[in-house]
Amino acid sequence: MKKFRQNRTIKRNVLIVDDELINREILGNILSQEYTVSYADNAKEALEKLAGQDSSYSLVLLDLLMPVMDGFQFLQKRSEDEALKRIPVIVMTSEKESEVRSLKLGAEDFIKKPFDMPEVVLARCERIIELFEDQSLIKQTERDSVTGLYTNEYFFEYIRQIELWDSETPRDALVIDIEHFHLVNEFCGRPFGDLLLSKIAEALDRELPQMNAIACRANADIFYIYAAHQVDYESVRQTIQNVLANFKMNNIRVRCGLWENVDKNVEIEAWFDRAKIACNQIRGDYTHTLARYDKEIHARHVFEETLIRDLPEAIANKDLVVYYQPKYNIEGDTPRLTSAEALIRWNHPKLGFVNPTDFVPLFESNGLIQKVDNFVWSEAAAQIRKWKELFGITVPVSVNVSRIDILDPSLESKLDNILKENGLSPSEYMLEITESAYSENARRLIEVVENLRKKGFRIEMDDFGSGYSSLNMITSLPIDILKIDMSFIRNMEKDERNMKLVELVIDIAKFLNVPTVAEGVETDSQLKTLKQMGCGIIQGYYFSKPVPPGEFSKVIKKELEHRRNAP
Ligand code: C2E
Ligand code: MG
Ligand code: MG
Repeated sequence: MKKFRQNRTIKRNVLIVDDELINREILGNILSQEYTVSYADNAKEALEKLAGQDSSYSLVLLDLLMPVMDGFQFLQKRSEDEALKRIPVIVMTSEKESEVRSLKLGAEDFIKKPFDMPEVVLARCERIIELFEDQSLIKQTERDSVTGLYTNEYFFEYIRQIELWDSETPRDALVIDIEHFHLVNEFCGRPFGDLLLSKIAEALDRELPQMNAIACRANADIFYIYAAHQVDYESVRQTIQNVLANFKMNNIRVRCGLWENVDKNVEIEAWFDRAKIACNQIRGDYTHTLARYDKEIHARHVFEETLIRDLPEAIANKDLVVYYQPKYNIEGDTPRLTSAEALIRWNHPKLGFVNPTDFVPLFESNGLIQKVDNFVWSEAAAQIRKWKELFGITVPVSVNVSRIDILDPSLESKLDNILKENGLSPSEYMLEITESAYSENARRLIEVVENLRKKGFRIEMDDFGSGYSSLNMITSLPIDILKIDMSFIRNMEKDERNMKLVELVIDIAKFLNVPTVAEGVETDSQLKTLKQMGCGIIQGYYFSKPVPPGEFSKVIKKELEHRRNAP
């Protein structure tokens, strides 16, 4: 609090109410060293000035004898007005009797006329302002008990006050994230973690005055700073990094996100949300330690927020549609349609066609992917049924199951219901689970997958080779089909090494006794090479891009004709 007050660029507003020009001038001269001073000729004018913007004044200095409306009337009116009571009043008088009367009417203090030494006047004003500000704050909740920095609520409240007094100064919102701090707690114990946080806060606190800033601990290992605009935040970051180094925590990185010259029309909390978005952009990027919230990030942020907001409507309006991409078995002389993959498409009324790579990772990060997946699962099941009715055959469809779905305890029952509604058996439906999900949460995943397999679902490991599963782990995983990641196919013909890699992946599948699907096959030569290596199933533009159900029906028709005509 003290530091905050010492911050001289934040000038409080003081109102001098006196009918005598000479008094206004003397007092104004004294106070304008420390405060922004306004004047009123009488109490009526003062009340008008205070109305509406009462909370932006920190003090009223009130003469008692004035024309139009005197000081006593002012005090009387103030005693009946809650908003006015929040502004302290110092009465200026030369009579003992008036002193007593004004104190009784609620004045906080008095200054004798003629005025004392300027220092005394200033000291009195400062003391009263301090007292009032202290009173209006609930002390216990002001500071975080571990670091002594402001708590979130107070931090935001002080920013509000700063902006009330001085909204003109350009300021920056800085978020400081101590990466992997939880490891400190895990390995060194919580008391040590708390000590380290308090040392970081101390170092930060020392930097604040020269930065003209205030700080808080936002949560766990995240600090917020609100500072007058400046260019060099690297030294602040380095200060904290040094504290960590002093405690031999060299592998813990301090990462910062900055929104410079915050837009004051935006909500205060959002300033820091945006700085945090910038900060998260460099998560895992060890070449950058500070990221700025810029136009590009802003556009991305708005885009993502739009998608999040519009998702429920998109599902209801069927702006989300499921496309199907065929998979062909190439083991025989002529390729045979074996199954399809269901892939989501979003035809947004304003943004146009939105790629799944733009929204799937976003919805995976906030859990909304479940809504998308449940929609796709239902649509795909209904589509299998329709094709069955139309053509008398089952085209098994595989759907993508996100890592979030795996953690959902109702996953099995959801899938059961979907199949039941459409009169399908699990063997007609396949589930694609990306390889990286296996390495992230192996135990839980294996348990879920085993249960699903027991029910008869077939499980495809998607994007194989893009994750970091160990060979050892793969051999113990319950899977039915292995899908080679597209990047291998793309690079396959570049050189011998890449070719060998694909061979290796196919050999692993053979060893596990499961078929391989190659994704992203676009050329005849890729197909031939894969066939030679023993890859049995192909998915890719070579055969077809993902297409809407109507077009896929034509693919099935063609396949059936082909089969009929086959010898
Ligand atoms: P994925 O599951 O590995 O799907 C294969 C992706 O490869 C699809 O991209 C498909 O259009 C594309 N592809 C197939 N053959 C070729 C080819 O020959 N050349 C090229 N360049 N690309 C090919 P898409 O549809 O853009 O989907 C991207 C990813 O988004 C999917 O990768 C999957 O991870 C995710 N995704 C798509 N739909 C869903 C969904 O319904 N749920 C979930 N959770 N994820 C989905
Ligand atoms: Mg897939
Ligand atoms: Mg894939």
